[in-house]
Amino acid sequence: MSYFVEVVLPLALDKTFTYQVSEAEYAFLKKGMRVAVPFGKNKIYTALAIELHRNEPLLYKAKEIHQILDEVPVVNEFQIEHWKWVADYYMCSIGDVYKTALPSGFLLESETIIAAPQDVYADSKELEDDEFLIWQALQQQSSLKVEDIMAILGKKNVFPVLNRMLAKNVLTLQEEVIEKYKPKVTKYIRLQPEFLQQEQLSELLELLSRAPKQRELVLQYFQLQATEKKPVSVKKLVEISGAGQAAVKSLVDKAVFEEYYLLEDRVRFEKSEDSGFALSAPQQIALNEIKDSFEKQSVSLLHGVTASGKTEVYIKLIEEYIQSGKQVLYLLPEIALTVQLVSRLTAYFGNQIAVYHSKYTNNERVEVWQQVLQNSEKAKIVIGVRSALFLPFSNLGLIVIDEEHEQTFKQFDPAPRYHARDAAIVLAAAHRSKVLLGSATPSLETYYNVQSGKYGLINLTERYGKVLLPEVFLVDLKDKYKRKRMKGHFSDTLIEAISESLSLGEQVILFQNRRGYSPFVECMTCGHVPQCPNCDVSLTYYKYKNQLRCHYCGYSIANPTHCHACQSVDLSTKGFGTEQIEMELRELFPEKNIGRMDQDTTRGKYGYEKIIDAFREQEIDILVGTQMLAKGLHFDNVTLVGIMNADNMLNQPDFRSHERAFQMMMQVAGRAGRSEKKGKVMIQTYNPYHNIIRQVTSNDYIGMYKEQVYERHNFKYPPFYRLVKLTLKHRDFDKLKEGSMWMYNVLTQSLQIPVLGPEEPAISRIRNEYIRTILIKIPQKSHLGNTKKMIRKIGSSFEAIPQYRAIKVSVNVDNY
Ligand code: ADP
Ligand code: ZN
Ligand code: ZN
Repeated sequence: MSYFVEVVLPLALDKTFTYQVSEAEYAFLKKGMRVAVPFGKNKIYTALAIELHRNEPLLYKAKEIHQILDEVPVVNEFQIEHWKWVADYYMCSIGDVYKTALPSGFLLESETIIAAPQDVYADSKELEDDEFLIWQALQQQSSLKVEDIMAILGKKNVFPVLNRMLAKNVLTLQEEVIEKYKPKVTKYIRLQPEFLQQEQLSELLELLSRAPKQRELVLQYFQLQATEKKPVSVKKLVEISGAGQAAVKSLVDKAVFEEYYLLEDRVRFEKSEDSGFALSAPQQIALNEIKDSFEKQSVSLLHGVTASGKTEVYIKLIEEYIQSGKQVLYLLPEIALTVQLVSRLTAYFGNQIAVYHSKYTNNERVEVWQQVLQNSEKAKIVIGVRSALFLPFSNLGLIVIDEEHEQTFKQFDPAPRYHARDAAIVLAAAHRSKVLLGSATPSLETYYNVQSGKYGLINLTERYGKVLLPEVFLVDLKDKYKRKRMKGHFSDTLIEAISESLSLGEQVILFQNRRGYSPFVECMTCGHVPQCPNCDVSLTYYKYKNQLRCHYCGYSIANPTHCHACQSVDLSTKGFGTEQIEMELRELFPEKNIGRMDQDTTRGKYGYEKIIDAFREQEIDILVGTQMLAKGLHFDNVTLVGIMNADNMLNQPDFRSHERAFQMMMQVAGRAGRSEKKGKVMIQTYNPYHNIIRQVTSNDYIGMYKEQVYERHNFKYPPFYRLVKLTLKHRDFDKLKEGSMWMYNVLTQSLQIPVLGPEEPAISRIRNEYIRTILIKIPQKSHLGNTKKMIRKIGSSFEAIPQYRAIKVSVNVDNY
C-alpha cells in the first residue's frame, strides 16, 4: 500500500511532483502544509503539499519526503486555486507564484544561507541542545549554509529547528538586506517622581506662580495624564498648552520634568480620539451609490477628482465590512504611500490594521501572514502593495485598489509577471467579495469595462470642502527660448510664480519626469558620450558622487577628466534630471530650503518617510521630484506645482505614453491647492497645442479617453487586443537573431493572428546579453486559453532545439 503527496517546489518548473509518505504521514498531512523534500542530486527544498493521493507516478519512482514542517496548513485552498490561475494566465509556473507569495523565512532550502542577527543577544539557557549547537557555530562563522547545519547536527531534518530559531529571532536569512536605519523614536516627558505627592505638587505650582507658561504646562500635563493614561509626548504637550519648547526646556533644566524616548512601533496601533469624521454630502452620495452598485456588480470604479476625499469614502465602506466580520485588503501602488495611509487608518480603526510589503523584515512578514491565516483581529484590514494579494485570506469581503491606474501594480521581473489589480479581481470572485477601484485618472482598460457595463461607476466631481481644482497655465518654451526668457530650465513665468508662492509662505512642488532624461557627459570636441561596456546605454552622470553609473547593471566609473576617445578636456554634462533642477534652484533661491525626492534620495526603510515628513513639517520650501510625487500624497500648504517639461512624457515610443502623460500631469497637478488656497499648475512645454496638454488644461478625462480608445482600436492594442510579449536573450548576437527568427516564423504560421517582431528594443543589450522581443496581439474573438496553450507549446519546441536551448525566453502577458 502506498501513499503519495503532490507538491509544488519553489522553482520555475512547469509541473508538480509526487513524493511518497507513510500511512501515518498521509493521515496527518493536509493540503497547504509544507514538507521538506529532497530534489535533484542532493538539494532539499521546502515544498507545498497541494494534494494527497494513492496514484503511483508512472514516469519516475517517487522519493520519500524528509518530513512534514507544519502542524496546520499555512496556505489555504483559496490561495492554491488562485495561484494556479495566476500561473496559467500569466504563463509561468505555480512554483514561481509559490516562491513569490511566501515570506522567504517560510521557504528554507539546503542552499539558504543563514546568519546570526546583529544586536540580538541569545540567552543560551533558552536554547535547546541542537539550537545551541547552531548558535555556537554561528558565533565562529558569520554565516552558514543550511547544508552545513545538517553536517553539524548530523541529520537531514534540520528545517524544524531552524524554523524555531527564526521564530525566536536568534537567526536571520542572509539574503535580507539588513538596513541600518535608525528606528523612529518619539520624545516623551514625565514628572520627576518626587513631585508626584500632592503637597510637593502644590509647592511646585506655588513656586512657578511667576512663570505662568511653565505653570500652565505642568497643569496641562496633569490633565493629559488623567484623560489619556498614556505617555505624554513633548509635541502633544507643547501643542495643547500653547507654551513653547523653551518652557519645556526650563522645566527639564529645573529637574521638574525629565525627558525620555520610546521607540515608535513600526505600526502605530493607537486609535486616536479625534479621528471621527462625517462624510460630506457628495461623499455620502458616492458611498450609497457604491453600495447600490455592489448589489448588481462586484467591481466598481470610484472616479473621484484629486482631493475629493476618496480615502474617507473607502474608510466608511471598509468599516461596514469589518463590522460584519469580514477581512479587507487595501492595495496601494507604492510603498511610499503606505506611510500616510497607515497613520490615517490606524487613527480611525486602531489595532486592526496590518501592513505588508517588501521593506518589512522576514519576521515581520511571517507575523502578518500568521495573523491573516488565523483571521486575527489584528489583521482585519491589510494594507499592502501588490504581493499582499498572496496572503492567506479566508474571509475576504472587500478589496480596495487605490490609484488603480498605476503601472506599478504590474510586476515586470521576475515571474510571476502579474497585474495585481487584475489578479485581485479574480481573487475577489473566488471569495465572492467586492472590489472598489479608485482613481482620479482611471486606466483606459478600467474605464472601458465601465463603458461596456462590466464594472459599476461612481463619480465624485468636487473636491472636499468645495476646494477648487487648480488652474492650469501653459508656458511655451519655444517662445521663451527665442526671447531669451530662460534661466537654465526655468522660464521667467515659472520663476515669478515660485517667488510669489514662497513669499506668501506657501510651498512648491516641481516635477521632472525621469524617463529619457538622465544626464550624461558629452565631449564637446568629438561628441563622444561614455557608454556602459555591458549594456547598450550611455552612463548616467551623478553630480553628487561625481560618478558615471549605468542604470541597468550598476557599472560605475569616476567622472572622467578628459575624453577617452580624443583626450580633450572640454567635457560637458547634458540632459536634465532632478539633480540638475535642484542645483539650479539653489542658485535661483539661495535662501530657501530645497528637497529632492527620487530613487536616489529615498533609499532605505524610512527614505520616503523622512522627505515626506520634512515637507509636511514645512522644513522644505520647494520639493523637486519624479513620478513618485505624482502619487496620492496630500500636503496642505502646496499652492504651486510646476511641470518642468511635458514633452518628454508625450514622446515616449509606447502605445500608453499619451494616457500616461495625461495621468501623470493630472496627478501632479492634483497636489496643488488641496486646502482653502486655490492652487496653480504651470506646465512648461514646446507643444502647448498638443491634445493631451489641452485635455489636462480643461480637466477633460472623457475627451482623453475617447480619443485614446479610438487609437487603441485602430492600432490593435488593449483593451481590444490582448498582448503577449516574448523577450529573448543571449550573449551571442547571431544565435539570438536566428533563434528569434525561428520563433517568429513558427508563431506566425501557427497562430494566424498579428505577430510583430522580432524587434531590437531601444536598449538592445543589458549585462552583455543581446535582446530581441516578439509581440503577439490576440484579438478578442480568439480563444485566449487556447492561444496561450499554443504559445506554450511552441516555447517547449523551441527549448527542445539544441542550438537554441541557451536562449532565455521570458513571457509577459498584458504587457504594461
Ligand atoms: P483623494 O484621495 O480623493 O485625493 P483625500 O482622501 O486625500 O483625497 O482627501 C483630501 C483631504 O480632504 C484630506 O486632507 C482629507 O483628510 C480631507 N477630507 C476629505 N474628506 C473629509 C471629510 N469627510 N471630513 C474631513 N476631512 C476630509
Ligand atoms: Zn572627445
Ligand atoms: Zn550597464
